[in-house]
Amino acid sequence: MRIRTFDDYQQAYQQSVEDPEAFWAGVAQEFQWRKPWTKTLQWNFTEPNIKWFVGGKLNITENCLDRHLAERGDQPAIIWEPNDPHEAGVTLTYRMLHDQVCRMANVLKRNGVGKGDRVCVYMPMVPELAIAVLACARIGAIHSVVFGGFSAQSIADRINDAQCRLVITADGAYRGNKEIPLKSVVDDALIGCPSVEKVIVMTRTRTPVAMLKGRDVWMEQELKQVTADCPAEEMDAEDVLFILYTSGSTGKPKGVVHTCGGYMVYAAYTFENVFQYEPGQVHFCTADIGWITGHSYIVYGPLACGATSLLFEGVPTYPDAGRFWDIVDKHQVNILYTAPTAIRSLMGFGLDKVENHDLSSLKVLGSVGEPINAEAWHWYDDHIGKNRCPIVDTWWQTETGGMLISPIAGVTKTKPTYATLPLPGVQPMLVDENGKEIEGNGVSGNLCMKFPWPGILRTTWGDHERCRQTYFSTYPGLYFTGDGCLRDEDGYYRITGRVDDVLNVSGHRIGTAEVENAINMHTGVVESAVVGYPHDIKGQGIYAYVIADAMPADHDADLTKRDILATVSRVIGPIAKPDKIQFVSGLPKTRSGKIMRRILRKIAEGDTSNLGDTTTLLDPAVVDEIKAGAV
Ligand code: ATP
Ligand code: MG
Repeated sequence: MRIRTFDDYQQAYQQSVEDPEAFWAGVAQEFQWRKPWTKTLQWNFTEPNIKWFVGGKLNITENCLDRHLAERGDQPAIIWEPNDPHEAGVTLTYRMLHDQVCRMANVLKRNGVGKGDRVCVYMPMVPELAIAVLACARIGAIHSVVFGGFSAQSIADRINDAQCRLVITADGAYRGNKEIPLKSVVDDALIGCPSVEKVIVMTRTRTPVAMLKGRDVWMEQELKQVTADCPAEEMDAEDVLFILYTSGSTGKPKGVVHTCGGYMVYAAYTFENVFQYEPGQVHFCTADIGWITGHSYIVYGPLACGATSLLFEGVPTYPDAGRFWDIVDKHQVNILYTAPTAIRSLMGFGLDKVENHDLSSLKVLGSVGEPINAEAWHWYDDHIGKNRCPIVDTWWQTETGGMLISPIAGVTKTKPTYATLPLPGVQPMLVDENGKEIEGNGVSGNLCMKFPWPGILRTTWGDHERCRQTYFSTYPGLYFTGDGCLRDEDGYYRITGRVDDVLNVSGHRIGTAEVENAINMHTGVVESAVVGYPHDIKGQGIYAYVIADAMPADHDADLTKRDILATVSRVIGPIAKPDKIQFVSGLPKTRSGKIMRRILRKIAEGDTSNLGDTTTLLDPAVVDEIKAGAV
C-alpha cells in the first residue's frame, strides 16, 4: 500500500480508477480481519447505498492495538502533553493503551452498554478521551464525540438525535488559562435527555461537581472494579463505528455515520501515504478529537499504522505563542498537522517565539480545515519547515472520513494554496450549476465525486433522506461536496471555499443558520441574518444583522448586543458569538422571501461600491439603510 515515488502514485491512481475493487482489496488485505469479505464494493449514489468489504468481519481496535503488541508493545502509542507545561505528561505504550482500553470497555459493559448502543463523549483532550473512544469500538458501541467547547443545548441536541444511553465526561477541562466545568454543562444538558441512563465522570480539574445517585459514577472507581480482559466484539465491516455531528447549515445537527471496515482502511491508507509515515516517528495533529481530523489522524489512522500519536490538551498560545514549537522540540515531533487559523494566529506573534526552539526533527508539515492563504503557506514553509519539509495541504470533510485531495509528502510537487491532486481511489469532477461536467484544465466549478472511496459517509444518523438530499440530490449520480474548486493548467486542484452558507471561524465550522437560530431565541429579536467577513486572525468573523422589536427611546443598544452574545454563547457556545452586530429595520429579501446574502456579505466586507443587481428585491430601500448603518 506504500507509495514512494511519483511513478508509484501514478500507477496506484491508474489502478484505483481502472479496477477500484482490486485496488482497495489489495490495501485492505494488509489489515487483520476475523473473516474475509465476499464482495469488495456494492454501491449506488441514488439511494445512496454504499457498502465496502461486504461480509467482512473485524474489530478496529484489534487492528489499532492487539496486532501491534508482539512487535511494538513497548513503543509509545500516545504521548500526552498537558495544558500546563509544568505538569507531568503521560506516555502510553501500545501494551499500556491496550490494557486501559480493555478496562474502560469493561467499565462500559458494567454500566449497561452493549453493541450498537450510542455513547456520547464530552471530554478534555486527555488520554482518557482516546481510551473512551477506543473502548466503545472494542465492544461495538457507537461513539458520538462532542467537542468540549459546545454548550449544554448543543450537547442535548446531539444526545437526543442519537438517543445516547451513556455519557462519558470529566469534572472539568483546562484550556489555556481557562477552566471549563464540563460536568456542570452536561448536567444542564441532561435535563432534556431522557435516553441517558449513566454518566461516567473522570477527575481532571477536581472542581466540585454534583453526582446524582444511580446515574453518575466516577471513572476511577469504576476502573477498580474491572479486569483488563476484554475480547473484542466481532463487527461487520458495515456496522456503525461512530457518529460525528457537523455544524449543520440548517440548524439541526447532522450526524455523519462512518462504518468499521472502510473507514479504518481509508484513514490508515491516507495517514501512511500522505504523511509518508516511517516506523518510530512521532505524529502531532493539533486538532481536537471532537472533530473528524482528530478521529482520523490522532486516533484511528496513526494507531492503525502503529505510529506514535501526540495528544495535546491545551491551546497554541498558552502559556505563550511558542507552545507548539516547544512541544515539537520537547517530543522531537516528525510530522506536524495543523490548521491555517493556528498558523495565521502564530504568525502574528513574530519570529522570536519560533527561533529559540529546535525544529530539526520535523519532516512533514500538514494543513487542514480551510484554504491556506499564500502568506501563511510561505511562513509555515520558511520558518517552521525551514524550506526542507514538504507541506501537505489536505482537503477533505467530515463526510469523507479521510483526505481526498492532497499532495503526498515529498512525492507530489506542491504549489502554495493548492491541495494539488486526488489521492488514489478519488475521482473528482467539476460541474456547472446545471450539473454538466466541466472538462479540461484551467476551469472552475462545483466539486463533486463520481465514485465512492472506502471512507465515504454511509448515511446521516436516523435520517437517510437527509443524507440523500444533502449530498446526492443536487447533482444526480454524484456526491456533492458543497465546495467550489479550481483546476489549473497542470490539473492541480485548489479549493476556493464553500458554495453554501457555512462560516469557518478559527477553523470551527458554524452554519450561518445555526447562529441565526440562536440569535432569534433572544427575547425581542424578530429576525436575523448572519454572514462571514474576512478576519485577519480567525479567517472569518461573524457579522449579524438583527431586526429587534421596537425599543423604548432610552434603551441601551450595547446592552442588548451583549445580551444577544450571551444567548448565542449559551445556545451554541462562545465560538459562535458574532464579532459585529448591526440593528436594522429590515433585511434585503427576494420576492420569494430568500435573504440576499451576497449583499449582506458585501456590506460586511465593507465593499459597497458594486452591490450587483438588486432589482429582484422586495424593498430595495432597505439596502441603503443597512449600508449607512454598517459597523
Ligand atoms: P457542515 O457540513 O455542517 O457545513 P463543515 O463542512 O463545516 O460542516 P468539516 O467537514 O470539518 O465541517 O469541514 C470540511 C470543509 O472544510 C470542506 O468542505 C472545505 O470547505 C473546508 N476545508 C477542509 N480542508 C480544506 C483545505 N485543505 N483547503 C480548503 N478547504 C478545506
Ligand atoms: Mg461540510
